[in-house]
Amino acid sequence: MTVPLSAVASARQILTRLHDVMASRANAQAKLNNVVDVIGESLDSEVCSIYLLREGMLELFATRGLAQEAVHVTRMAIGEGLVGTIAQHIEMLNLAEATAHPDFSYRPETGEDKFHSFAGVPIVRRERAVGVLCVQHADPRRYEEVEIEALQTVAMVLSELIANAELVDEVEAMSLSAAQTGSEQLSGLTLVKGLASGVAVYHQPRITIEHVMAEDTEAERQRVYLAFDKMREQIDRMASQAEFGVGGEHEEVLATYRMFAYDEGWARRINEAIDSGLTAEAAIERVQQRTRMRMRQIDDPLLADRMHDLEDLANRLLRMVSGQLGTAATMGLRQDAILVARNLGPAELLEYDKRRLKGVILEEGSLTAHVVIVARAMGIPVLGRIRGLRGRVREGDPLLLDADQGLVFIRPAQGMVEAFEGRFAKSRERQAAYAGLRDVVPTTADGTRITVNINAGLRDDMPNLALTGADGVGLFRTEFQFLVSATLPNRERQTRLYRDVLDAAGDKPVVFRTVDIGGDKVLPYLRHDDGVNEENPAMGWRALRVALERDGLLKVQARALLEAAAGRTLQVMFPMVSEPWEFDAAKAVFEGQLAFLQARKKARPEVVRYGAMLEVPALAEMLDVLLPRLSFLSIGTNDLTQFLFAADRANPKLAERYDWLGVGIMRFLKRIVDAGTAHGVEVAVCGEMGGRRAEALALMGIGIRRLSITPAAVGPIKELVRQVHLPDIEGAMAGWLANPPANLRAALAQWAADREIAID
Ligand code: PEP
Ligand code: MG
Repeated sequence: MTVPLSAVASARQILTRLHDVMASRANAQAKLNNVVDVIGESLDSEVCSIYLLREGMLELFATRGLAQEAVHVTRMAIGEGLVGTIAQHIEMLNLAEATAHPDFSYRPETGEDKFHSFAGVPIVRRERAVGVLCVQHADPRRYEEVEIEALQTVAMVLSELIANAELVDEVEAMSLSAAQTGSEQLSGLTLVKGLASGVAVYHQPRITIEHVMAEDTEAERQRVYLAFDKMREQIDRMASQAEFGVGGEHEEVLATYRMFAYDEGWARRINEAIDSGLTAEAAIERVQQRTRMRMRQIDDPLLADRMHDLEDLANRLLRMVSGQLGTAATMGLRQDAILVARNLGPAELLEYDKRRLKGVILEEGSLTAHVVIVARAMGIPVLGRIRGLRGRVREGDPLLLDADQGLVFIRPAQGMVEAFEGRFAKSRERQAAYAGLRDVVPTTADGTRITVNINAGLRDDMPNLALTGADGVGLFRTEFQFLVSATLPNRERQTRLYRDVLDAAGDKPVVFRTVDIGGDKVLPYLRHDDGVNEENPAMGWRALRVALERDGLLKVQARALLEAAAGRTLQVMFPMVSEPWEFDAAKAVFEGQLAFLQARKKARPEVVRYGAMLEVPALAEMLDVLLPRLSFLSIGTNDLTQFLFAADRANPKLAERYDWLGVGIMRFLKRIVDAGTAHGVEVAVCGEMGGRRAEALALMGIGIRRLSITPAAVGPIKELVRQVHLPDIEGAMAGWLANPPANLRAALAQWAADREIAID
């Protein structure tokens, strides 16, 4: 047997011959017959066969070397025999002795008993196997790597031929995907509870390669060069802006991206694939296939992670080459979808059509990352920290997301879908029951009224006030408007939004928080002057620190808020106050604008109430100075706890490490509440923990009477409030804080269980 000279030469030779076959006027069947001859001859293989998917079976469509009577007669189920196994796992097989493989199934009509060696590759279309191309030989020997690569290249060409000739029904192939790879279940960390079903949509869409064989190799080479340049530029820009993604791991990821983007070996291999006659897109994919194959042989989770990075980058390169830029949001969702991504920014999530977006599954993510807060506000379940997610889920795969249990089912079997439907119905019933609590007043069993407000950030959030029957908006995150716009919103736009929000709230109070940008809420149009990368953006140039330095920004916002609240009460609070003077300085900006309006006899609010957020631990030591100046204080536990634990709220590695319901945090919060009581200033909690029942119970136990929470939590929290006898829980908490139990959460759970109070 002659082994081809080099990968490039053999692939080039085969592609040139295939090009002639494809360009001929023969019909599809005749072309397939020619293809098996070309491959058989080129690889010096006695047998070459093509199986294609028809009516759920893999049917022998063309062969050289097997009995011709078997064509359109021999059929294999997915998973049956070697051919079926290749299609099922979408993986190649290369065997010196075919009969030794456990899946070998002998078909007498083909006359294949004289052949020993066997190699086959899947023919893939839109990430699904639509057929199998295989070669067999009488000598028992494994095929060379270059030969397997040549087969894979041919499989790509066949995929194009099959699509053009409509030899395979793609819809059928999609629906068979469950049979091809079976159902799978992955687990992750619940970030937003809920159930959802939909098809998998990649935030960064995968590209379908339409043309495999190049007409003009030089032109293809230029296309790849240009795309490489663009991609490198993009990665460099991301690195210099340090605004990529929202995960704490982004620096590491970027470093890896840069390494790959500048890897000459990668560029060279793509170039060689182009030399062999492929288009730019096909060359990138070909090289990627080869890398995947190699990586699969190395069982190392760290390398697997790097492989995802390379896949991401290859996909980015493909999108650049093919000009298919933009995310799935820009292309629009066509059906109920579950979004798949490594991580997302809050603004990216907000771009999606809320009616079609049913869930989000992420490889990273953490409970208090802003994208999760936004998703919670939108009522979209989110599962994060799913290992290997992007390797397992394919675009278009049907998914069932059970974020309550921390699971996602990929390509679920029918029985699973039915069971899920049952749970879906139950969950809808529960939602309806909570909706029934809309008009229920949240008063504790011993008669204390608890204020239950909602957190909001967009105009669209306002109907939640009426839907939940909440008391008001305890935190309106004004930066959301900044996040969703491409440019800095001007004063008129801001005024319009704030007025609409107040109108929508009617008699119910709204607390506006001035912009909290920076941290994981980065605005591309607002950068630090010297453009430095912040090592720790959460502790960096953000929130009030930006607002006081760029006081033009705060002045505009102050004017917009004051004008919008003309004739009404304006409640405003400042985020990330670290020292009392910062509160004074921010308040002075508002007072300055108020004086301006007064001097010009313009309409003003009747009352302006100023509050601060307590998010920076040092401020808790200054409450004697601060509280007398405030109308109210709101504890932002998302930020506060990350600083108390020294654990980045957006870092997925720390997502489960520390419990908010720890004695350390609770003692700290209790001191703040007590200081508030001593100064007659109401203290509220507006972090995510207030919306979780166990945490809310503990907060009530330390004297919190005002919560601002995500709208979906209002019903469950109201239900909890009505069951709680305050002196009871206060006594229990006092005991636990004085003599800490080993696990406060467990102690609280037991306490609640003894009283038949549901807290999960
Ligand atoms: C907080 O930090 O708890 C808070 C409510 O503000 P944000 O989540 O917007 O930072
Ligand atoms: Mg905060």
